[in-house]
Amino acid sequence: MTSQRFALPTLLVVLCACLVENLSVEENFASGLNVSLPEPRAYIPDAHLLDFVYHNHEEMTRFLRATSARYPNLTALYSIGKSVQGRDLWVMVVSASPYEHMLGKPDVKYVANIHGNEAVGRELMLHLIQYFVTSYTTDPYIKWLLDNTRIHILPSLNPDGFAVSKEGTCDGGQGRYNARGFDLNRNFPDYFKQNNKRGQPETDAVKEWISKIQFSLSGSLHGGALVASYPYDNTPNSMFQSYASSPSLTPDDDIFRHLSLTYASNHAKMSRGVACKTSSPSFENGITNGAAWYPLTGGMQDYNYIWYGCMEVTLEVSCCKYPPAHELRKYWDDNQLSLVKFLAEVHRGVQGFVTDMSGTPIEKASLKIKGRDVGFQTTRYGEFWRILLPGVYKLEVYADGYIPRDVDFMVVDQHPTLLNVTMQPAKGYHMYNLLKTTTTTTTPRTPPSSKDSSDIIMFPE
Ligand SMILES: [Zn+2]
Repeated sequence: MTSQRFALPTLLVVLCACLVENLSVEENFASGLNVSLPEPRAYIPDAHLLDFVYHNHEEMTRFLRATSARYPNLTALYSIGKSVQGRDLWVMVVSASPYEHMLGKPDVKYVANIHGNEAVGRELMLHLIQYFVTSYTTDPYIKWLLDNTRIHILPSLNPDGFAVSKEGTCDGGQGRYNARGFDLNRNFPDYFKQNNKRGQPETDAVKEWISKIQFSLSGSLHGGALVASYPYDNTPNSMFQSYASSPSLTPDDDIFRHLSLTYASNHAKMSRGVACKTSSPSFENGITNGAAWYPLTGGMQDYNYIWYGCMEVTLEVSCCKYPPAHELRKYWDDNQLSLVKFLAEVHRGVQGFVTDMSGTPIEKASLKIKGRDVGFQTTRYGEFWRILLPGVYKLEVYADGYIPRDVDFMVVDQHPTLLNVTMQPAKGYHMYNLLKTTTTTTTPRTPPSSKDSSDIIMFPE
Protein backbone atom coordinates (compact mmCIF):
# COMPACT_ATOMS: atom_id res chain seq x y z
CA MET A 1 0.00 0.00 0.00
CA THR A 2 1.53 3.28 -1.02
CA SER A 3 0.53 6.51 0.56
CA GLN A 4 0.33 9.75 -1.26
CA ARG A 5 3.17 11.96 -0.21
CA PHE A 6 3.47 15.69 -0.53
CA ALA A 7 6.50 17.82 -0.07
CA LEU A 8 6.10 20.30 2.74
CA PRO A 9 7.96 23.47 1.80
CA THR A 10 7.81 25.11 5.20
CA LEU A 11 9.30 22.05 6.76
CA LEU A 12 12.01 21.98 4.18
CA VAL A 13 13.05 25.46 5.22
CA VAL A 14 13.52 24.17 8.72
CA LEU A 15 15.16 21.10 7.37
CA CYS A 16 17.61 22.90 5.20
CA ALA A 17 20.48 22.72 7.67
CA CYS A 18 19.89 19.05 8.14
CA LEU A 19 19.70 18.31 4.46
CA VAL A 20 23.12 19.77 3.99
CA GLU A 21 24.22 17.88 7.04
CA ASN A 22 22.75 14.62 5.90
CA LEU A 23 23.60 14.81 2.26
CA SER A 24 27.26 15.40 2.91
CA VAL A 25 27.38 12.23 4.93
CA GLU A 26 25.11 10.22 2.68
CA GLU A 27 26.86 11.12 -0.53
CA ASN A 28 30.16 10.05 0.85
CA PHE A 29 28.71 6.94 2.30
CA ALA A 30 27.13 6.05 -1.00
CA SER A 31 30.09 6.84 -3.15
CA GLY A 32 32.37 4.16 -1.82
CA LEU A 33 34.13 2.79 1.18
CA ASN A 34 37.49 4.39 0.52
CA VAL A 35 36.28 7.94 0.62
CA SER A 36 37.49 10.23 3.35
CA LEU A 37 34.61 11.94 5.03
CA PRO A 38 34.43 15.71 5.23
CA GLU A 39 34.21 15.99 8.97
CA PRO A 40 36.26 14.05 11.45
CA ARG A 41 33.23 12.85 13.41
CA ALA A 42 31.10 11.84 10.45
CA TYR A 43 31.93 8.18 10.61
CA ILE A 44 29.49 5.28 10.40
CA PRO A 45 29.69 3.13 13.49
CA ASP A 46 27.28 0.32 14.12
CA ALA A 47 24.24 1.99 15.62
CA HIS A 48 23.51 -1.24 17.47
CA LEU A 49 26.42 -0.33 19.68
CA LEU A 50 24.67 2.49 21.51
CA ASP A 51 25.81 1.91 25.06
CA PHE A 52 23.89 2.52 28.24
CA VAL A 53 26.08 5.46 29.15
CA TYR A 54 25.54 9.20 29.09
CA HIS A 55 26.47 10.89 25.86
CA ASN A 56 27.82 14.41 25.92
CA HIS A 57 26.82 16.77 23.15
CA GLU A 58 29.59 15.69 20.79
CA GLU A 59 28.86 12.02 21.33
CA MET A 60 25.13 12.53 20.95
CA THR A 61 25.70 14.46 17.73
CA ARG A 62 27.93 11.67 16.45
CA PHE A 63 25.31 9.04 17.22
CA LEU A 64 22.55 11.03 15.53
CA ARG A 65 24.64 11.67 12.41
CA ALA A 66 25.76 8.08 12.21
CA THR A 67 22.22 6.79 12.60
CA SER A 68 20.82 9.15 9.98
CA ALA A 69 23.57 8.06 7.60
CA ARG A 70 22.98 4.40 8.29
CA TYR A 71 19.19 4.60 8.02
CA PRO A 72 18.58 7.27 5.36
CA ASN A 73 15.16 5.88 4.46
CA LEU A 74 13.89 5.95 8.04
CA THR A 75 15.52 9.02 9.57
CA ALA A 76 16.21 12.68 8.94
CA LEU A 77 18.34 14.82 11.21
CA TYR A 78 17.69 18.52 11.51
CA SER A 79 18.43 21.30 13.94
CA ILE A 80 15.71 23.70 15.10
CA GLY A 81 18.30 26.24 16.27
CA LYS A 82 21.13 26.62 18.71
CA SER A 83 21.40 26.94 22.46
CA VAL A 84 22.83 30.07 24.11
CA GLN A 85 26.30 28.53 23.89
CA GLY A 86 25.84 27.51 20.27
CA ARG A 87 24.99 23.83 20.60
CA ASP A 88 22.61 22.50 17.99
CA LEU A 89 19.10 21.58 19.12
CA TRP A 90 18.91 18.36 17.15
CA VAL A 91 15.70 16.71 16.08
CA MET A 92 15.68 13.25 14.58
CA VAL A 93 12.63 12.34 12.53
CA VAL A 94 11.94 8.63 12.50
CA SER A 95 9.37 7.57 9.93
CA ALA A 96 8.91 5.67 6.71
CA SER A 97 8.75 9.18 5.22
CA PRO A 98 11.39 11.08 7.15
CA TYR A 99 11.76 14.02 4.76
CA GLU A 100 8.18 14.58 3.69
CA HIS A 101 4.94 15.03 5.49
CA MET A 102 2.61 12.11 4.68
CA LEU A 103 -0.74 13.48 3.58
CA GLY A 104 -3.41 12.66 6.14
CA LYS A 105 -0.93 11.15 8.61
CA PRO A 106 -0.03 12.88 11.85
CA ASP A 107 3.25 14.25 13.17
CA VAL A 108 4.13 13.64 16.83
CA LYS A 109 7.10 14.56 18.97
CA TYR A 110 9.12 13.96 22.10
CA VAL A 111 11.17 16.69 23.74
CA ALA A 112 13.64 15.72 26.46
CA ASN A 113 16.19 17.35 28.74
CA ILE A 114 14.45 20.74 28.85
CA HIS A 115 15.88 20.83 32.35
CA GLY A 116 19.56 20.14 31.69
CA ASN A 117 20.13 18.11 34.84
CA GLU A 118 17.21 15.75 34.16
CA ALA A 119 19.28 13.40 32.07
CA VAL A 120 17.43 10.09 31.80
CA GLY A 121 14.98 11.26 29.14
CA ARG A 122 17.86 12.40 26.95
CA GLU A 123 19.36 8.91 26.86
CA LEU A 124 15.92 7.28 26.52
CA MET A 125 15.43 9.30 23.34
CA LEU A 126 18.66 8.00 21.82
CA HIS A 127 17.66 4.44 22.66
CA LEU A 128 14.17 5.02 21.29
CA ILE A 129 15.64 6.21 17.99
CA GLN A 130 17.82 3.15 17.83
CA TYR A 131 14.96 0.87 18.79
CA PHE A 132 12.75 2.27 16.02
CA VAL A 133 15.30 1.98 13.24
CA THR A 134 16.43 -1.50 14.20
CA SER A 135 12.89 -2.83 14.70
CA TYR A 136 11.30 -1.51 11.53
CA THR A 137 11.95 -4.59 9.43
CA THR A 138 11.33 -7.14 12.17
CA ASP A 139 8.48 -5.75 14.28
CA PRO A 140 5.15 -5.30 12.45
CA TYR A 141 3.86 -2.93 15.12
CA ILE A 142 6.83 -0.60 14.80
CA LYS A 143 6.61 -0.84 11.02
CA TRP A 144 2.95 0.14 11.14
CA LEU A 145 3.69 3.02 13.51
CA LEU A 146 6.50 4.41 11.35
CA ASP A 147 4.52 3.86 8.16
CA ASN A 148 1.66 5.93 9.54
CA THR A 149 3.33 8.53 11.76
CA ARG A 150 6.20 10.97 11.59
CA ILE A 151 7.95 10.90 14.93
CA HIS A 152 10.17 13.89 15.75
CA ILE A 153 12.56 13.33 18.64
CA LEU A 154 14.44 16.21 20.30
CA PRO A 155 16.76 14.51 22.80
CA SER A 156 18.05 17.70 24.43
CA LEU A 157 16.40 21.09 24.52
CA ASN A 158 18.95 22.28 27.08
CA PRO A 159 22.38 20.95 26.05
CA ASP A 160 24.15 23.81 27.86
CA GLY A 161 22.51 22.90 31.16
CA PHE A 162 23.36 19.24 30.63
CA ALA A 163 27.01 20.17 30.06
CA VAL A 164 27.29 21.56 33.61
CA SER A 165 25.22 18.84 35.31
CA LYS A 166 26.79 16.08 37.36
CA GLU A 167 26.10 12.38 37.01
CA GLY A 168 24.88 10.90 40.29
CA THR A 169 23.18 14.13 41.40
CA CYS A 170 19.58 13.25 42.16
CA ASP A 171 18.30 16.61 43.37
CA GLY A 172 19.06 20.28 43.13
CA GLY A 173 19.21 22.87 40.41
CA GLN A 174 22.72 22.82 38.96
CA GLY A 175 22.29 22.45 35.21
CA ARG A 176 18.51 22.86 35.36
CA TYR A 177 18.61 26.27 33.68
CA ASN A 178 19.95 27.39 30.33
CA ALA A 179 23.29 29.21 30.11
CA ARG A 180 21.61 32.52 30.95
CA GLY A 181 19.96 31.12 34.05
CA PHE A 182 16.44 30.78 32.64
CA ASP A 183 14.16 27.87 33.43
CA LEU A 184 13.05 26.88 29.93
CA ASN A 185 9.86 25.27 31.20
CA ARG A 186 8.79 28.68 32.61
CA ASN A 187 9.72 30.52 29.43
CA PHE A 188 6.68 30.06 27.17
CA PRO A 189 3.76 32.43 26.70
CA ASP A 190 1.07 31.59 29.23
CA TYR A 191 -2.67 31.55 28.77
CA PHE A 192 -3.54 32.29 32.39
CA LYS A 193 -0.87 34.75 33.46
CA GLN A 194 1.29 37.35 31.85
CA ASN A 195 4.74 35.81 31.45
CA ASN A 196 7.33 38.57 31.39
CA LYS A 197 10.35 36.29 31.11
CA ARG A 198 12.52 37.15 28.13
CA GLY A 199 12.29 34.51 25.40
CA GLN A 200 15.39 32.33 25.21
CA PRO A 201 17.00 30.89 22.06
CA GLU A 202 15.95 27.38 23.06
CA THR A 203 12.28 28.22 23.65
CA ASP A 204 12.16 30.58 20.67
CA ALA A 205 13.37 27.65 18.55
CA VAL A 206 10.56 25.45 19.89
CA LYS A 207 7.96 28.15 19.24
CA GLU A 208 9.14 28.49 15.65
CA TRP A 209 9.27 24.71 15.23
CA ILE A 210 5.75 23.99 16.40
CA SER A 211 4.38 26.89 14.38
CA LYS A 212 5.78 25.26 11.23
CA ILE A 213 4.86 21.64 11.84
CA GLN A 214 1.46 20.73 13.21
CA PHE A 215 2.02 18.20 15.98
CA SER A 216 -1.01 16.37 17.30
CA LEU A 217 0.60 14.63 20.28
CA SER A 218 3.72 15.29 22.32
CA GLY A 219 5.59 14.09 25.37
CA SER A 220 8.01 16.22 27.37
CA LEU A 221 10.48 14.16 29.38
CA HIS A 222 11.61 15.22 32.83
CA GLY A 223 13.13 13.70 35.96
CA GLY A 224 12.86 14.08 39.72
CA ALA A 225 9.52 12.28 40.03
CA LEU A 226 7.71 9.29 38.58
CA VAL A 227 4.42 10.50 37.14
CA ALA A 228 2.64 11.54 33.96
CA SER A 229 1.43 15.10 34.51
CA TYR A 230 -1.12 16.65 32.20
CA PRO A 231 -2.48 20.18 31.47
CA TYR A 232 -3.20 22.59 32.72
CA ASP A 233 0.01 23.36 34.58
CA ASN A 234 -1.31 26.80 35.36
CA THR A 235 -4.55 28.00 36.84
CA PRO A 236 -6.47 31.27 36.68
CA ASN A 237 -6.14 31.91 40.38
CA SER A 238 -2.92 30.27 41.53
CA MET A 239 -1.94 33.26 43.66
CA PHE A 240 -4.66 32.24 46.09
CA GLN A 241 -3.64 28.62 46.04
CA SER A 242 -0.03 28.55 47.00
CA TYR A 243 -0.71 26.25 49.97
CA ALA A 244 -3.24 23.81 48.59
CA SER A 245 -3.14 23.36 44.84
CA SER A 246 -6.36 22.38 43.17
CA PRO A 247 -6.78 20.84 39.72
CA SER A 248 -6.93 23.07 36.67
CA LEU A 249 -8.70 20.90 34.15
CA THR A 250 -8.89 21.27 30.39
CA PRO A 251 -12.06 20.55 28.39
CA ASP A 252 -10.14 17.50 27.11
CA ASP A 253 -9.51 16.14 30.59
CA ASP A 254 -10.76 12.67 29.62
CA ILE A 255 -8.20 12.53 26.80
CA PHE A 256 -5.35 13.83 28.91
CA ARG A 257 -6.11 11.34 31.66
CA HIS A 258 -6.25 8.57 29.08
CA LEU A 259 -2.93 9.59 27.50
CA SER A 260 -1.29 9.85 30.91
CA LEU A 261 -2.69 6.48 31.97
CA THR A 262 -1.43 4.96 28.72
CA TYR A 263 2.08 6.01 29.64
CA ALA A 264 1.82 5.10 33.33
CA SER A 265 0.15 1.72 32.86
CA ASN A 266 2.63 0.54 30.23
CA HIS A 267 5.51 1.58 32.47
CA ALA A 268 7.10 -1.01 34.72
CA LYS A 269 6.11 0.81 37.91
CA MET A 270 4.76 4.32 37.34
CA SER A 271 1.11 3.32 37.80
CA ARG A 272 1.80 1.96 41.28
CA GLY A 273 1.98 5.59 42.37
CA VAL A 274 4.69 5.03 44.96
CA ALA A 275 6.19 8.27 46.27
CA CYS A 276 9.83 8.86 45.33
CA LYS A 277 10.64 9.85 48.91
CA THR A 278 8.64 9.93 52.10
CA SER A 279 8.55 13.72 51.81
CA SER A 280 7.28 13.72 48.21
CA PRO A 281 3.73 13.18 47.00
CA SER A 282 2.33 9.90 45.75
CA PHE A 283 0.19 9.96 42.63
CA GLU A 284 -2.82 7.71 42.26
CA ASN A 285 -2.30 5.49 39.20
CA GLY A 286 0.89 7.41 38.45
CA ILE A 287 -0.84 10.40 36.92
CA THR A 288 -1.69 13.93 38.01
CA ASN A 289 -3.07 17.16 36.76
CA GLY A 290 -0.15 19.62 36.56
CA ALA A 291 -1.69 22.41 38.62
CA ALA A 292 -2.98 19.96 41.22
CA TRP A 293 0.65 18.97 41.82
CA TYR A 294 1.91 22.56 41.75
CA PRO A 295 0.89 25.43 39.44
CA LEU A 296 3.50 26.98 37.20
CA THR A 297 3.54 29.80 34.67
CA GLY A 298 5.18 29.59 31.24
CA GLY A 299 5.24 25.80 30.89
CA MET A 300 5.62 24.10 27.53
CA GLN A 301 2.65 21.75 27.72
CA ASP A 302 -0.03 24.38 28.24
CA TYR A 303 1.51 26.35 25.36
CA ASN A 304 1.39 23.36 23.00
CA TYR A 305 -2.22 22.67 23.84
CA ILE A 306 -3.67 26.17 23.92
CA TRP A 307 -1.75 27.69 21.03
CA TYR A 308 -1.54 24.74 18.66
CA GLY A 309 -4.03 22.12 19.83
CA CYS A 310 -1.14 19.70 20.42
CA MET A 311 -1.83 17.38 23.32
CA GLU A 312 1.36 17.38 25.36
CA VAL A 313 1.93 15.45 28.57
CA THR A 314 4.88 15.92 30.94
CA LEU A 315 6.52 12.57 31.59
CA GLU A 316 8.56 12.43 34.79
CA VAL A 317 10.57 9.27 34.29
CA SER A 318 13.04 9.04 37.18
CA CYS A 319 13.02 9.87 40.88
CA CYS A 320 16.72 10.66 40.58
CA LYS A 321 17.33 13.46 38.10
CA TYR A 322 20.76 12.26 36.96
CA PRO A 323 21.26 8.68 38.19
CA PRO A 324 24.49 6.75 37.64
CA ALA A 325 24.91 5.41 34.12
CA HIS A 326 24.74 1.77 35.19
CA GLU A 327 21.05 2.31 35.96
CA LEU A 328 20.20 3.48 32.43
CA ARG A 329 19.40 0.04 31.06
CA LYS A 330 16.77 -0.39 33.77
CA TYR A 331 15.22 2.97 32.90
CA TRP A 332 15.07 1.96 29.26
CA ASP A 333 13.44 -1.36 30.11
CA ASP A 334 10.91 0.40 32.36
CA ASN A 335 9.96 3.02 29.75
CA GLN A 336 10.31 1.32 26.37
CA LEU A 337 6.74 0.11 25.99
CA SER A 338 5.29 3.35 27.38
CA LEU A 339 7.27 5.46 24.93
CA VAL A 340 5.91 3.50 21.98
CA LYS A 341 2.31 3.07 23.14
CA PHE A 342 1.94 6.72 24.09
CA LEU A 343 2.79 7.88 20.55
CA ALA A 344 0.48 5.30 18.98
CA GLU A 345 -2.45 7.00 20.76
CA VAL A 346 -2.35 9.68 18.07
CA HIS A 347 -4.22 7.16 15.90
CA ARG A 348 -7.30 7.40 18.08
CA GLY A 349 -10.18 9.82 17.51
CA VAL A 350 -11.11 11.76 14.42
CA GLN A 351 -9.13 12.89 11.42
CA GLY A 352 -9.86 14.23 7.98
CA PHE A 353 -9.80 17.14 5.58
CA VAL A 354 -11.64 20.41 5.23
CA THR A 355 -12.12 21.45 1.61
CA ASP A 356 -14.20 23.82 -0.46
CA MET A 357 -16.81 22.67 -2.98
CA SER A 358 -14.13 22.03 -5.60
CA GLY A 359 -12.08 19.87 -3.26
CA THR A 360 -9.42 22.50 -2.64
CA PRO A 361 -8.05 22.24 0.89
CA ILE A 362 -8.89 25.05 3.30
CA GLU A 363 -5.93 26.04 5.44
CA LYS A 364 -6.35 27.40 8.95
CA ALA A 365 -10.00 26.51 9.20
CA SER A 366 -10.86 26.74 12.91
CA LEU A 367 -12.19 23.55 14.40
CA LYS A 368 -13.70 22.74 17.73
CA ILE A 369 -15.30 19.68 19.22
CA LYS A 370 -18.59 20.95 20.61
CA GLY A 371 -18.38 21.37 24.35
CA ARG A 372 -14.59 21.52 24.29
CA ASP A 373 -13.57 25.12 24.10
CA VAL A 374 -9.96 24.68 23.09
CA GLY A 375 -9.83 24.68 19.32
CA PHE A 376 -7.45 23.53 16.64
CA GLN A 377 -6.80 24.30 13.00
CA THR A 378 -6.35 22.64 9.65
CA THR A 379 -2.94 22.38 8.02
CA ARG A 380 -2.09 23.88 4.65
CA TYR A 381 -3.44 20.67 3.12
CA GLY A 382 -6.71 21.05 4.98
CA GLU A 383 -5.88 18.17 7.31
CA PHE A 384 -6.89 17.86 10.94
CA TRP A 385 -6.52 15.31 13.70
CA ARG A 386 -8.06 15.21 17.17
CA ILE A 387 -7.55 12.49 19.74
CA LEU A 388 -10.90 11.45 21.24
CA LEU A 389 -12.22 8.52 23.23
CA PRO A 390 -15.11 6.43 21.86
CA GLY A 391 -18.38 8.37 21.80
CA VAL A 392 -20.62 10.67 19.78
CA TYR A 393 -19.37 14.16 19.02
CA LYS A 394 -20.08 17.25 16.97
CA LEU A 395 -17.33 18.98 15.00
CA GLU A 396 -17.75 22.72 14.54
CA VAL A 397 -15.94 24.10 11.52
CA TYR A 398 -15.41 27.75 10.83
CA ALA A 399 -13.45 29.25 7.91
CA ASP A 400 -13.22 32.75 6.52
CA GLY A 401 -15.71 33.22 3.71
CA TYR A 402 -17.60 29.98 4.29
CA ILE A 403 -20.80 29.06 6.05
CA PRO A 404 -19.91 27.56 9.43
CA ARG A 405 -20.72 23.86 9.68
CA ASP A 406 -21.52 21.38 12.40
CA VAL A 407 -20.87 17.74 11.63
CA ASP A 408 -21.93 14.86 13.86
CA PHE A 409 -19.64 11.87 14.04
CA MET A 410 -18.89 8.84 16.13
CA VAL A 411 -15.55 7.61 17.46
CA VAL A 412 -14.92 3.93 18.04
CA ASP A 413 -12.11 2.21 19.86
CA GLN A 414 -10.66 0.18 16.99
CA HIS A 415 -9.66 2.82 14.46
CA PRO A 416 -9.78 6.56 13.86
CA THR A 417 -12.91 8.05 12.32
CA LEU A 418 -12.31 9.59 8.92
CA LEU A 419 -14.28 12.78 8.41
CA ASN A 420 -14.10 14.98 5.34
CA VAL A 421 -15.87 18.32 5.60
CA THR A 422 -16.91 20.33 2.54
CA MET A 423 -17.51 24.02 3.12
CA GLN A 424 -19.96 26.18 1.15
CA PRO A 425 -19.11 29.79 0.42
CA ALA A 426 -21.02 32.28 2.53
CA LYS A 427 -23.54 34.41 0.68
CA GLY A 428 -23.08 38.09 1.32
CA TYR A 429 -19.56 37.40 2.46
CA HIS A 430 -18.89 41.08 3.06
CA MET A 431 -21.65 41.44 5.64
CA TYR A 432 -20.65 38.19 7.20
CA ASN A 433 -17.08 39.33 7.50
CA LEU A 434 -18.08 42.56 9.20
CA LEU A 435 -20.19 40.63 11.64
CA LYS A 436 -17.33 38.25 12.31
CA THR A 437 -14.92 41.11 12.96
CA THR A 438 -17.30 42.45 15.57
CA THR A 439 -17.58 39.06 17.18
CA THR A 440 -13.86 38.50 17.30
CA THR A 441 -13.29 41.49 19.53
CA THR A 442 -14.98 39.64 22.37
CA THR A 443 -12.82 36.60 21.99
CA PRO A 444 -9.41 35.96 23.26
CA ARG A 445 -7.49 36.96 26.22
CA THR A 446 -3.88 36.37 25.45
CA PRO A 447 -2.81 36.80 21.86
CA PRO A 448 -0.46 33.96 21.01
CA SER A 449 1.96 36.03 19.03
CA SER A 450 2.43 39.72 18.54
CA LYS A 451 3.09 39.30 14.83
CA ASP A 452 0.23 37.11 13.73
CA SER A 453 -3.05 37.26 15.56
CA SER A 454 -4.57 34.82 13.06
CA ASP A 455 -2.81 32.11 15.07
CA ILE A 456 -5.41 32.55 17.79
CA ILE A 457 -6.98 29.16 18.10
CA MET A 458 -9.56 29.86 20.74
CA PHE A 459 -12.74 29.39 18.79
CA PRO A 460 -14.70 32.60 18.28
CA GLU A 461 -17.99 32.31 20.06
ZN1 LIG B 1 12.00 19.03 34.85
